[in-house]
Amino acid sequence: MKKDYYEILGIDKSADAATIKKAYRKKAIEFHPDKNPGDKEAEENFKLAAEAYEVLSDPDKKARYDQYGHAAFEGGGFGGGGFNNMDDIFSQFGDIFGSAFGGGFGGFGNSGPRRVKGSSLRIKVKLTLEDIALGVEKKVKVKRKVKAEGVTYKSCGTCNGSGQVTKIQNTILGRMQTSSPCPSCEGVGQTMDYTPPGADRDGMQTIEETVSIKIPAGVADGMQLKVGGKGNEAPGPNSVPGDLIVVIEEIPHETIVRQDENLHYDLYISFAEAVLGGTKEVETVTGKVRIKLEEGIQSGKILRLKGKGLPSLQGYGTGDFLIHVNVWTPKKLSKEQKDFFEKMKENENFMPNPQKSDKSFFEKVKEMFS
Ligand SMILES: [Zn+2]
Repeated sequence: MKKDYYEILGIDKSADAATIKKAYRKKAIEFHPDKNPGDKEAEENFKLAAEAYEVLSDPDKKARYDQYGHAAFEGGGFGGGGFNNMDDIFSQFGDIFGSAFGGGFGGFGNSGPRRVKGSSLRIKVKLTLEDIALGVEKKVKVKRKVKAEGVTYKSCGTCNGSGQVTKIQNTILGRMQTSSPCPSCEGVGQTMDYTPPGADRDGMQTIEETVSIKIPAGVADGMQLKVGGKGNEAPGPNSVPGDLIVVIEEIPHETIVRQDENLHYDLYISFAEAVLGGTKEVETVTGKVRIKLEEGIQSGKILRLKGKGLPSLQGYGTGDFLIHVNVWTPKKLSKEQKDFFEKMKENENFMPNPQKSDKSFFEKVKEMFS
């Protein structure tokens, strides 16, 4: 059982943004790895507090959490909470420590230089229903900033590579020591050594790279996938690249309509086919399927092809392909055909006689949504 985020931070549900931030800062300092070296439990609490703060500090995620609890972020890994490594926490929330730990930069405490993360890039990927049904690997061209070939960095002379400068002041309370990020290297601890031609002043250049993205089956319009490390790189020898955020865009299908994992298809058959029955070929998202029409099939009948829909992203099976039968009534008839129907008008075989099994349109709709 996962612990409640409010409980982790020791606040109640009515807490405002400032209170949430204050509560997180308190917990983060309490369980900070610098204060608890080698303490696994403290590290776990430190991660949990960051996870709770990540969700509760984001109005969108907080609303989802308030409504659905932890279930809001389960399965699929889309926008969920949780951190696997400490560096992620520091790169995201490092500034919350303020002056409590050195200059307030990320990294473990005030001794290490700041670790810079490159910015994220966003791209849209258009997918057909066929792509979504089977999952697909897409190759996309991404313009990203990378460290130029041949670039070298050297330890910053101002701070000797620590990223921090220390000032000692005499005050009425005695000697005070304050640390702040080094102004020469902005806390990174490194400065440019050799800048190759064609690189900018940070030693970076923009390249076009083909990135291969594996898209799982069952995704939907608007979902976001993260490709770690394929965003912009940041300068410096110890920097980490940003991420590539892939936004899914679904291309509407010409004849098939998606409803979550189920697919709907309108099949039109002639009056003669409805009377005589027969077989029909239907194009699903995973290929052609031959279906049998019974003799005397009614308009409005729904034929269900089990498991021929889309797979659930969370792995809860596969949806169905629903074929809605529509009988096409002829509009133009020859004199001879008209005479035939004229004769059949009062024939008892042509009289509507719905059975219990011939559910009305409304009953079918009700059934579909229940
Ligand atoms: Zn420096």
